[in-house]
Amino acid sequence: MVARNSHLEKLKGTYLFSQIDSYKKKLLDKDPSIQLISLGTGDTSEPITPHITQAMVTECQRLGTLEGYRGYGPDFGLPQLRKKISDVHYKGLVDPEDIYVSDGAGCDIARWQMLFGAQHTLAVQDPSYPAYVDNGVIMGQTGTFDADKKIYKKIVPLAMRPDNNFFCDLSTIEKTDIIALCSPNNPTGTTLNREQFQQLVDFAKSNQSIILYDAVYTPFIRDKSIPQSIYEIPGAKEVAIECHSFSKSAGFTGVRLGWSVVPKELKYDDGTPVYPDWQRISTTSFNGASLISQAGGLAALDEKGLQETKAQVDHYLMNAKILRDTLSGLGFTIYGGENAPYLWLHFPKADYPGLTSWDIFEDILNRSHVVTIPGSGFGPAGENFIRLSAFGHRQKILDAAKRLKNWAETSPLNLQATASK
Ligand code: PLP
Repeated sequence: MVARNSHLEKLKGTYLFSQIDSYKKKLLDKDPSIQLISLGTGDTSEPITPHITQAMVTECQRLGTLEGYRGYGPDFGLPQLRKKISDVHYKGLVDPEDIYVSDGAGCDIARWQMLFGAQHTLAVQDPSYPAYVDNGVIMGQTGTFDADKKIYKKIVPLAMRPDNNFFCDLSTIEKTDIIALCSPNNPTGTTLNREQFQQLVDFAKSNQSIILYDAVYTPFIRDKSIPQSIYEIPGAKEVAIECHSFSKSAGFTGVRLGWSVVPKELKYDDGTPVYPDWQRISTTSFNGASLISQAGGLAALDEKGLQETKAQVDHYLMNAKILRDTLSGLGFTIYGGENAPYLWLHFPKADYPGLTSWDIFEDILNRSHVVTIPGSGFGPAGENFIRLSAFGHRQKILDAAKRLKNWAETSPLNLQATASK
């Protein structure tokens, strides 16, 4: 028999979702007629738009002809797609040659970890999308477990809370080799402003760290003062890799298409550039993104495609507004949901004494039949928060808002909170 990779035992992510499933199962076992509404998943709900669908159908049909058939595509993506990404997303700020088309940001995040190996220290926002930590843990980038901070020693949490404006005081942070960053953030739905980005770039420069910036939710930014890319910040090309995706803006979560930017200016401590290693890892770990997805990606970035995808993102943002308005009208404190598809609902300790985010998740589930995600599942600083996702059909969101209103007005948890005010 083969021994299990011992690092896999240290993972917590699957535990979160299986725990949520076990709560759902318990409820449905009691009453199978219950119609749950999920505001838990970060998956898109709206169909791929007609123009983009047609481009993929056409490419598919072309591949089914003798003249149009092609096998493997170019290693780093179709040149016309790399150019289009450079023009549309970066307004020419990034060289198309520095753009590496991939099968999605999730896959690139795992490859980042292959790039840097297990010996590095990693600073990561707490709470955060689990992949940055999980891939590191699988690689063995752990050190010993720090029971107080509930985290592995080689992983340094950057706590993001309302009292630090969901940023962190960089003067108190220890140097790490890698800094993983996501804005607009999953799960908090909050964004970093230009000044905060600049501080991070300066911090990375002075510590000789590399920033791994996850930009998958930037299409949700409507506030023009918020950067759409880390490369808008002077000096960022020397310290940052950025990943992006068509998943959330074009509904490609199942189609699979994304990219990473690895600028030529980014160097290791011995002065050698990072990009040749990225090329090597890309060509070793996969053989290029699907030609059908890339045809869809090209269509998503032309004039019609951009119009259609903007309308789709606007739909999710309107969902977020509906949830936000409902809950803030009920007196809750909510973060995010304005430039992001996630809302971060706060249940402050002072108002909800002794209650964890799991208790609140369970009460919402049992009383309103709405599935959310307990904030602590994204990291210790997520305790006392609940994440709501705004992905969904409009009617489902309206129904969920009604149920949450009813929950807020009748739950003993909230009566207790109101009484304590
Ligand atoms: N990064 C973040 C922050 C995400 O929330 C997700 C998916 O939910 C991904 C990356 C994965 O994106 P993709 O579908 O391109 O793999």
